[in-house]
Amino acid sequence: MNEKSQAEAERRAKLLKMRNERLPDIKKAFEENQKRNFNANFAPGGKDEKLVRPKKTIKVAAKPAAKKATKTAKTTKATKAAKTTKAATTDKKRDVSLLVSTRKGEMVHHQRMLSQDVNAQATQHIIGIPVNKSRYNGFKGAQLTINQIRAARPHKDAVRIIPIGGLGEFGIGKNMTAIEYQGEIILIDMGTLFASEDYPGVNYMVPDSKWLDDNRDKVKAILFTHAHLDHIGACRHLLPYFGPLVPIYATPFTIGMIKKQMSELAEVPDMNYHEVEPLHHDNIKLSEHLSCEFIHTLHSIPGNASIVVRTPNGNILLSGDWRFENNPMDTPADYDRLMEIKEKEGFALLLNESTNIDTPGTHPHSEYDVGDNMGRVMDHYANGRVIISCFSSQVKRIELVLKEAAARGRKVAFSGFSMINNVEVALRAHSIKVPKDTIMKMEDIIKLPDDKITIVCTGSQGEMNAVLNRMVTGAHRHIKIKSTDTIVFSSNPIPGNEPKVMGTVDGLLREGAQVIQNGRTHLTNIGPLHLSGHAYYEDHVKFVTDMAPKNYMPYHGEFYMLEHNAEMAENVVGIPHDNIIVADDGDIVELMPDQTIHKNGRIPVGNKLYDDADRQVNEAVVKDRIHISREGIFVVILTLSKKTGRLIKTPDIVSRAFIYLDNSEELIGKIRHYLRAKTDHTVSTDEDIKALKEEIKEDVTHILYDATGHTPIVIPVINKV
Ligand SMILES: [Zn+2]
Ligand SMILES: [Zn+2]
Repeated sequence: MNEKSQAEAERRAKLLKMRNERLPDIKKAFEENQKRNFNANFAPGGKDEKLVRPKKTIKVAAKPAAKKATKTAKTTKATKAAKTTKAATTDKKRDVSLLVSTRKGEMVHHQRMLSQDVNAQATQHIIGIPVNKSRYNGFKGAQLTINQIRAARPHKDAVRIIPIGGLGEFGIGKNMTAIEYQGEIILIDMGTLFASEDYPGVNYMVPDSKWLDDNRDKVKAILFTHAHLDHIGACRHLLPYFGPLVPIYATPFTIGMIKKQMSELAEVPDMNYHEVEPLHHDNIKLSEHLSCEFIHTLHSIPGNASIVVRTPNGNILLSGDWRFENNPMDTPADYDRLMEIKEKEGFALLLNESTNIDTPGTHPHSEYDVGDNMGRVMDHYANGRVIISCFSSQVKRIELVLKEAAARGRKVAFSGFSMINNVEVALRAHSIKVPKDTIMKMEDIIKLPDDKITIVCTGSQGEMNAVLNRMVTGAHRHIKIKSTDTIVFSSNPIPGNEPKVMGTVDGLLREGAQVIQNGRTHLTNIGPLHLSGHAYYEDHVKFVTDMAPKNYMPYHGEFYMLEHNAEMAENVVGIPHDNIIVADDGDIVELMPDQTIHKNGRIPVGNKLYDDADRQVNEAVVKDRIHISREGIFVVILTLSKKTGRLIKTPDIVSRAFIYLDNSEELIGKIRHYLRAKTDHTVSTDEDIKALKEEIKEDVTHILYDATGHTPIVIPVINKV
């Protein structure tokens, strides 16, 4: 007892001491924040003054009136629709009693709600004119209208910045930006966006732009900031259209990754690749008026760069993805060069990524700490296999694993298609150092004793068919998880993936294995095991302050990230409100010769959806899939005599994803009865058959809705023999 309380006292004293040590820092951070004084925005003259003293004149009166107007418009539309359907039903040649107790209106209502849901789910990506009433929307918060877009005329001397993808998406991805000046276009990045489960059967999306299709011949160069899929994933779909004449510029590792991707095409196109060494500070001439310079910056992948585009109206800095690192494994970021360009030339516009704008502070540790902790895992769990799961593009982290394993006499095998690919590209681009005799093939490594085995694999996001899950289920060719295994999640779940990751963790724990996840240091006392590739809030404050751009445009992020990024630039860095724009995919932002910016019109943008076999999926198909997943499908097959036009055998009925037929005899009987009555007269012409099909579809849907509360897709098939 005594010993316990003494230990407890010691623990408390230690905690108190730690807190006291940290207190000055906390105090300082608090004071810094006070200085920022976000409340000043609400003071007279502040930008949010309006919100404090609402002007209650026109707005309040106008709103309900407008609402009423739309309401009446809606109801007249609805009654019109109801009238026409009524007219149609009374037109029927033969009305058969459906023996239902629900009104048809209820079914129609159900169908309408369902189709609204389906549409909302299948079109979460940007289509048409997105709603954007942000204070930074370029129109003082007023929503852009179709008439404004029609009236927009490009300014002759403007440099036009057009985000084709990556802004305000649901999720991060599909990054692609166009810069145009007097008919010369350059493109930066061509990324994919992984589709959520809301899009059944869709694996990823690719930017789609009619404007780009129409202007393909004007494209003078294509640049890539780095090799993550949200920046190069769409290469194999988009690059071939530009042909071998358009030069492609990127660092050697990024070019290697693009080539690898292009090699997956059935016919590998001839492309015009140019490797760029950012540390050479070359100014690359891209067209008559545009040139660019790659700047070496740090991220979670080798060969990362920011890009300065030099235009007649000033320099545009595209940050790409970046993070600050005090003690990097890679060559330190070329921040001096950025500062030099800022001093000598200045930046007219900064496009800055927004991924981690919601994470306070700065990066708390380095990639080396992650490596040390991998070593600690190998020491603690020395008798079994250590299986490390991380993103396949984390080449530098893989280098650390190799080093730690080699120091302990362990061999390392890689598993997962993308993992093996990336290591190969990294070896060729000299982006990774490998200790001698450490890498082994998966099929050889399993001949070694467990305590000599380290495996680096994909699947840290809980992906169903990735290596880690296959090891759990026993579907992996070489490895089945056992209780002496230790699995390290050297990553954080991407928002939205948490349930899948936990599913994988559950599976591993059920097999008796040890699981060590980043961010859960209190469970194992080992961590951190991951370092985010994106800058945190205070990093952004420093970066934007240092670059001192005239104008600012957040990119690479969901809408809330863009908005928070813009607020940071105004409130903390002090960029004037009118020099900040929160744009959406498709918006045309013009940088003028006097270095002001404004929005001026839109280009049509959208998505092409692809499945996991790289085949395009039509949006209508996705909608059908969602409909079927919720309501099912119901097919009735009628066989009519060619001579008499009457039913000659019992109608066949097929139900999928709806009701189990064996348990639904009464309902099926009712439908058969209806179908017999319905076909109790001659149908001869094709017109008759078409009308009959429509009526059957509607009536059967009503009977099914009456019995089940659902409206599956009903397909009547009529054969004539
Ligand atoms: Zn990235
Ligand atoms: Zn990215």
